[in-house]
Amino acid sequence: MARVEALHTMCVGHGLCREVAPEVFRLDKWGCVEIVEPEVPAELLERARTGVYRCPAKALLIDEG
Ligand code: SF4
Repeated sequence: MARVEALHTMCVGHGLCREVAPEVFRLDKWGCVEIVEPEVPAELLERARTGVYRCPAKALLIDEG
C-alpha cells in the first residue's frame, strides 16, 4: 500500500493537494497540510499521486514501495 507524508515546514498552504484529493489531504486551521489518510487505499492512489506531484512547494512525498 502506498504511503504519503508531508514536510510541514515546506508547505505554503495553497491547498492544491486538497483540491485534488480531499480524502487524503486537508489543511489545518493555520492553513498547513495535514494527511488524513497516510496509508492510501488503491482507489485513491491516482489522485493522491496527482496531489503530491502538483504541490508547488514539493512538500509531499509518496512511497509506493
Ligand atoms: S499543495 Fe503543497 S503547499 Fe499546497 S497545501 Fe498542499 S502540501 Fe501545502
